[in-house]
Amino acid sequence: MSATDALLSPEEQAGYYAAVEKVQNSVASQLSANPSKTFAITFVSNVQRSVDMVSQQAISQGEQFDCKVGCSHCCHVRVEAIEPEIFQIAHELNKLPSVELASLIERLQKHAILAKDLSVQDHRIPCPLLKDNLCSIYPVRPAACRKVHSYDVEKCKTRGSEIPESLEVILKSETLMKGAAEAYRQVNLPASGHELGQALLLSLTDETAEARWYGGEMVFDT
Ligand code: SF4
Repeated sequence: MSATDALLSPEEQAGYYAAVEKVQNSVASQLSANPSKTFAITFVSNVQRSVDMVSQQAISQGEQFDCKVGCSHCCHVRVEAIEPEIFQIAHELNKLPSVELASLIERLQKHAILAKDLSVQDHRIPCPLLKDNLCSIYPVRPAACRKVHSYDVEKCKTRGSEIPESLEVILKSETLMKGAAEAYRQVNLPASGHELGQALLLSLTDETAEARWYGGEMVFDT
C-alpha cells in the first residue's frame, strides 16, 4: 500500500488507480506510435507541464500556498527523477560551456560521495543543481519538484514535521507521474525514481547510458 492509498477510502483508491491506468494507456499509445529515443526522452516534458498545470489550476481556484521564489527548503531533500527526465536534464546540461560543465560534474561528484549512503530521512543536503537558492535547471526540473508545495513555510523549515499540502494536488500529480512511469515500463523502457544528483552524474559521464536505457537496460542504481 502506498502513502497515498492510506489517505483514501476504497472507492477513492479505485478512482485513483483507474485514473492512473487512463494516463498509462494514453502515454503508452503515444510512445508506441513514435518509437524513437529522442521522442521517448522529450515526451516527458508533456507530463511535467501537466503536473505544473495541476498546481496552477489549484492556485487559480483560490489555494494559497506559501511557496516563494528563492525559498529552497524543498531542494534540501532527496529528489528523485525517472530515466527520461534524467536524460532530458543531461541534454540541457551538455549545452553548457565546457568549463561550466566540468565544474558541475565536479559538484555532482562531491554530492555523490555525500549522498550515496544517506537514507531518505537523513538526506538534508542541497540539490547540486541549486544555485543562489534558485533552480539552475528550472525549465527541465523533474515532475517531483513541480509537485511540491506547502501551505506553511515554517513547517518546511523545521523539516521534521509533516508539510501541509493539498491532497488534491498531490493525487492529481501522482496520477500523472505514476501513469507515465507505468507507460514507459509498458513499452520496455525502465522508468523508476532515482536520486537526481547521482543519476545525472552517470548520464553526463557515461556516453553509453542513454542507448543502454533505450535498449531496456536499468542503468541507474541509486
Ligand atoms: S532540480 Fe531544481 S527544483 Fe528540483 S531540487 Fe534541484 S534545485 Fe530544487
